[in-house]
Amino acid sequence: MRVALILLMLLTQTGLAAGVEVRGVRVWAGPEYTRAVFDVSAKADYKLFSLEGPDRLVLDIDKGDITKVALPAGTGLVKGMRSGRPGDGQLRLVFDLSEKARAKSFLLAPAENYGHRLVVDLYPELSSKPAPVLRADNPPDSKDLRKVIVAIDAGHGGEDPGALGASGTREKDVVLAISRALAKQVNAEPGMQALLIRDGDYYVAHRQRFMKAREAKADIFISIHADAFHKQTANGSSVFILSPTTASNEAASWLAERENRSDLVGGVSLDSRDDTLAAVLLDLSQGATMEASSEAAGRVHASLKRLGKTHKNQVEKANFYVLRSPDVPSMLVETAFISNPTEERRLKDPKHQQALASAILDGVRDYFHSRPPPGTWIAAHAQPRSHIVSSGETLSAIAEQHRVSLESLRQANAKRGDVVKVGEVLRIPTSS
Ligand SMILES: [Zn+2]
Repeated sequence: MRVALILLMLLTQTGLAAGVEVRGVRVWAGPEYTRAVFDVSAKADYKLFSLEGPDRLVLDIDKGDITKVALPAGTGLVKGMRSGRPGDGQLRLVFDLSEKARAKSFLLAPAENYGHRLVVDLYPELSSKPAPVLRADNPPDSKDLRKVIVAIDAGHGGEDPGALGASGTREKDVVLAISRALAKQVNAEPGMQALLIRDGDYYVAHRQRFMKAREAKADIFISIHADAFHKQTANGSSVFILSPTTASNEAASWLAERENRSDLVGGVSLDSRDDTLAAVLLDLSQGATMEASSEAAGRVHASLKRLGKTHKNQVEKANFYVLRSPDVPSMLVETAFISNPTEERRLKDPKHQQALASAILDGVRDYFHSRPPPGTWIAAHAQPRSHIVSSGETLSAIAEQHRVSLESLRQANAKRGDVVKVGEVLRIPTSS
């Protein structure tokens, strides 16, 4: 007993003497800030201060040590990093800055494959670039008709690699490639404009993702993923919409839970996890957005089904935080399972990335052409669609297929009853 006690004391003392070891350093540059992340062996006591002429930021870690890792090359606001020992057992890390910056720092508790992390975010003090005004960048095509804005959210990024494939493919990389391909295709589409929520290797908090879409007054929000499942055989694309309370099935709820942990892995400081989410949730009673999400997701699901196998036969629901926008119809597309070796290989193939993007765009186009937002170029140009009746079809089934009401289908074709003839061409009305 006594021996054990002494041993314990010894261990504690060596623990103290060893202090905090910095075991890894990474720097991520995003459009809003540059993030430096330090893997530390324990919760670090530290001080941060700025120096001028030239602009530097100094991080002093109490009883700190850095021996095994090299400091990374500069990126973003960080031109370079140096280490030193000012005395008192302190480890000093000096960031040479490319311009004056404001620092915000916080500690992250261990999450997934990470232990303790110390995060330093650097924001440019004089924001040289004004916030992009999306509308100005989105000139009307003709008269005062605006383009619909498609917000494309590449999941994960930066500290959060997302799911990993067996041969090392990272979800954050393939979903960014698919998102960029989709944005290109959207921008080539008449009446549409893409907004990339993440366009590089950095993390964006869930809340920030949908807030960016809301601020840009996006007409739709699509979060792109390629997640893993514990069964390697799981395959096919899936499309999800938000259900704050219940999930379609256990796997859907498992995926959402995994996905929601991204903020812990990617690194979100406590003060950015504000309570607005609660208020946003209340607004979800606004059924119109949910209905539109469901309609749009149904179109994208149908289109992905034409491309290949879908995981389930219908759109699924789960509590994905990133879909919690109260007023932008939102969906999350699991393009494939990166945990499935065959799908992992295809996900890396630029041709398949293009094919996935164009399948998603087909669904989005179907949605906007059947429900064009008022005042948009698409609303002014949406072509009336037609349907040729084949044998065995009924008017109500045709209405359902095109997601229009039976009554509007009757009206558009000047029908009193529901009788249709094989070969008859029906006009499909544009619902609004
Ligand atoms: Zn994901």
